[in-house]
Amino acid sequence: MPAYRHLFGPVCSRRFGRSLGVDLVRPKTCSLNCLFCQLGPTASTTTHRCADVSVEEMMAELAAWRQAGGQTDFVTLGGSGEPTLHPRFGELLRWIRDNLPFRSLLLTNGTLFTFEEVRGEAAQADIVKVSLHAWDQASFERIVRPHAALRFEAILEGYRRFRSIFRGRLHVEVFVVPGVNDTPAQMTRIARLARSFQPDVIDLNTLDRPPADGSVQVCPLETLTQLAPLFTPVAHVARSLPPGTPPPFVTTPDAEAMVALVRRHPASADQLATHAGHSLEATLATLKALAAQQRIQLVKRDGIWFASP
Ligand code: SF4
Repeated sequence: MPAYRHLFGPVCSRRFGRSLGVDLVRPKTCSLNCLFCQLGPTASTTTHRCADVSVEEMMAELAAWRQAGGQTDFVTLGGSGEPTLHPRFGELLRWIRDNLPFRSLLLTNGTLFTFEEVRGEAAQADIVKVSLHAWDQASFERIVRPHAALRFEAILEGYRRFRSIFRGRLHVEVFVVPGVNDTPAQMTRIARLARSFQPDVIDLNTLDRPPADGSVQVCPLETLTQLAPLFTPVAHVARSLPPGTPPPFVTTPDAEAMVALVRRHPASADQLATHAGHSLEATLATLKALAAQQRIQLVKRDGIWFASP
């Protein structure tokens, strides 16, 4: 796999199958600093939209990847932070629609949906996944530690307005943090708010990789399953990829490609081995060498090796 500057994967996602990622921002650029972020802490949150990463380069890489026979289920805008902070993300979505035979997916924290132009750009995607982990400004601040300018109610209103113009499939992700937002009463409030903007799919998610805040725990599957029926439609509960999930079209344990992937998609050594179609031993050896060069971080937790930026 050539080491692209802006593309990563395809990776197998729990919800969307094979997903080729496009990274629109520099690591790590985000309006939030979520307790559970798999990319590590946000040094300084921002709401400033900045075009310092070239969209033309992204398009050229996508065209080259496709010409080399690339296959995926989705081309996904996500990566090292919040993709809507790039002011030309809508242009990229249109380019994908016009030039590639794959659907587009926008993974966004939704904080900029307060702006009409952002909602209009996001509506170019086939699927949009927004987040909702809180029920008021105080819980919003506790869970996602937002930029000071962000107001929870305004973002929700942005979601409602987006729903009224968006013809694609709208997903909402609710990340469940034990001791923070996991009681039935709290989840009922979140579910009521979610209903107000009529998502097509609701995903209840929990930790499967080391978080920004080390005190965040995994929510037991049993709790997630009990909370799921509070939502309309009933929420899907995130589960690990089943054993035997076929690897995507990544065929070499190329170190540069591994760095590019880990920077945008922290994962366990097992997951990376699956993605790369390589043995765990070979993958771990590559990861350890990269960690020794301080190009990635590699930590062992509960007997499992995790690689992160
Ligand atoms: S989880 Fe997403 S929205 Fe939250 S800090 Fe990380 S990149 Fe930003």
